[in-house]
Amino acid sequence: MDVSFILDALNDKQREAVAAPLQNSLVLAGAGSGKTRVLVHRIAWLMHAYELSPYSLMAVTFTNKAAREMQARIEQLVGLPPQGMWVGTFHGLAHRLLRAHWRDAGLKENFQIMDSDDQLRLVKRIMREFNIDDTRWPPKQVTWFINAQKDEGRRAAHVPDSHDPFSQGMRELYYHYEEACERNGLLDFGELLLRAHELMLTNPALLKHYQQRFVHVLVDEFQDTNTIQYAWLRVMVGDTGTITAVGDDDQSIYGWRGAKIENIQNFPKHFNDVKTIRLEQNYRSTGQILKAANGLIQNNDDRLGKELWTDSGDGEPISLYAGFNEQDEARFILEIVKKWRDDGTALKDMAILYRSNAQSRVIEECLVREQLPYRIYGGHRFYDRLEIKNALAYARLAVDPNDDGAMERVINVPPRGIGERSIGTLREIARDQGCSMWQAAEHIVQHGVMPARASNAIKNFLLLIDGMGNTLIQPDLGLGDVFEHIIQEAGLIPHHEKEKGEKGEARIENLKELVSAASGFSWSEDDEEFSSPMMAFLDKAVLDAGEAQADEYQDSVQLMTLHSAKGLEFPLVFLTGVEENLFPSKMSFEEPGRLEEERRLCYVGITRAMEKLYITYAESRRLHGSESFNSPSRFIREIPPECIEEVRLRSQVARPISMQRPNYQGTLQKQNQSVLQGYQVPDTNVSMGDRVKHPVFGEGLVINYEGQGPQARVQVNFDTEGTKWLVLSFAKLEVL
Ligand code: ATP
Ligand code: MG
Repeated sequence: MDVSFILDALNDKQREAVAAPLQNSLVLAGAGSGKTRVLVHRIAWLMHAYELSPYSLMAVTFTNKAAREMQARIEQLVGLPPQGMWVGTFHGLAHRLLRAHWRDAGLKENFQIMDSDDQLRLVKRIMREFNIDDTRWPPKQVTWFINAQKDEGRRAAHVPDSHDPFSQGMRELYYHYEEACERNGLLDFGELLLRAHELMLTNPALLKHYQQRFVHVLVDEFQDTNTIQYAWLRVMVGDTGTITAVGDDDQSIYGWRGAKIENIQNFPKHFNDVKTIRLEQNYRSTGQILKAANGLIQNNDDRLGKELWTDSGDGEPISLYAGFNEQDEARFILEIVKKWRDDGTALKDMAILYRSNAQSRVIEECLVREQLPYRIYGGHRFYDRLEIKNALAYARLAVDPNDDGAMERVINVPPRGIGERSIGTLREIARDQGCSMWQAAEHIVQHGVMPARASNAIKNFLLLIDGMGNTLIQPDLGLGDVFEHIIQEAGLIPHHEKEKGEKGEARIENLKELVSAASGFSWSEDDEEFSSPMMAFLDKAVLDAGEAQADEYQDSVQLMTLHSAKGLEFPLVFLTGVEENLFPSKMSFEEPGRLEEERRLCYVGITRAMEKLYITYAESRRLHGSESFNSPSRFIREIPPECIEEVRLRSQVARPISMQRPNYQGTLQKQNQSVLQGYQVPDTNVSMGDRVKHPVFGEGLVINYEGQGPQARVQVNFDTEGTKWLVLSFAKLEVL
């Protein structure tokens, strides 16, 4: 058979990697240099040139999407699906092994996989059972501890002894947790990997079988493997198999989840005669985009070091847009999206990337308004997220206490001592009496048909919701204030604060973002079908959640976090919210190494772009419920200036102040506000950047205005009171 077609569309180095003899190899190369392509072609090569059966190959990718894509690409190349080949994620493949060998793995035949919510619920149940104080050992932190141990391949028995009572408690909980999982046939995600590893170590015959079967193992995104994944790979390959791993140390972005970049350094030590191949030609991006990426990543120490080049021409410079605020940023992005669409680019070829999930809301709202289909990868859409749904459920109860769905959702979230048994009783009474759960609860409280403790807990819940209901009818409270009140009274912030790691923080940020969304919600009494702003807001949230998401096959704009963008490519990319404290994130200043990981994340973002990259930031941003004025990210400064062109033209919103704006390099050196300096609000004596004094709010800086004459309003950032909009003809502002 002529196999030259497999090597045709490859460069020399790629060809060397693809047609290498059956041996261990490591392909270390920058973004877009064809690593994934090499893997696909190598699989085809092994099947056709070495006549290996697909049955003897295993390929590990990072996401299910990547696995499906790999299968499709192999099929496209060789004309047949690779039947019998194992292609999947680490978790997927481990699961497959355990289903096939449940007995040898010491599992029940019908073992169940738990997602992270199930896992948390189990931990809580155990803590109740053993009377363990959940304020000292917050359940979320317990699950985080257990997962981190499993990532490192440690069972409870392997956790080092400690004199510290907190660590001792954690270890004990891990023991109880292991027991409970064992008893009930439950496996969490980490357990899949750990158990699959142990399965091999404790069953020599089985191990031999698989080692003989898998002649060659291929791994994509190797830089993001953690300890247990790497250990499992080593075991599966053993002394008889061989492995090809491809990766890029500059794209290691999962250190916070246990990924070990050292696995790359150790690879040549742990596998025999490793052939290391470096690819340096990039086929994805234009010269300007690449130069930007190279320039940025050079600011990291501790790199294995490589330069990427391309012969595809310079292309256009990167466009940098300074949004006035996050709304203006989103508006600008939408304008470019529509322009590209009108010029014939498919929506699916445009990606909008952001650092944290909460940033997507404003962009989503713009997309909905413009009726552009979009799709969000990784992470839930804003109004679908657990914490948002909980807050909305409280609001729904405040509007209508008889909303049983909402009641079920939050009656014990955060935990307030209304256990499953009490809830069961409520359900029963509601069913028997044909009333709502709320009415059942009132019945219980009035007639004392439950033990005092349970009854009291329910009574407190009823009072809590009553209080929330009262805020709805207070004329001086805006919708944002009402949500702030609800979130605070419900105790949702401390509830999520107990969650360890980024997730809890992200949830809190999202809750604050909900307050922002509610404050900015415009409703007029002309909207007759709604009886109140709250009703209108709640409906909008449901509709946004239900309909805005395009289905998978519809041509739609792609929205995702930078983490989910790994391995993908798009002709047009927007890197948004590139501001200090947001990207790099504030948290990254605290832990050593985190800033470098943020920079790698930025490198991943830039290198997703094929033809054109837009970088945007907002001079003021309302996020997580408050307004901040962050300077443009240091990452922008680290990109060679000749690759960047500032977008100066503003359409739609008349923003004369932009004419005074110096270029971003200047912006970086000055206080953010100073760029606004000097523009006078028409027909008034107030100018942008003036310091002013208000009789009640004190001193502040004028940062924005709208309208003219008697309608002119200015936005002032007060030193102590935050930002406020004031009508100039009323507010007695004194220019200082
Ligand atoms: P990442 O690090 O982002 O995962 P990668 O190194 O895996 O990138 P690929 O996705 O395999 O890179 O390739 C990037 C793009 O370049 C793809 O569109 C691929 O088809 C194309 N490409 C790679 N090698 C060649 C080649 N020799 N000729 C033409 N196109 C190529
Ligand atoms: Mg790749």
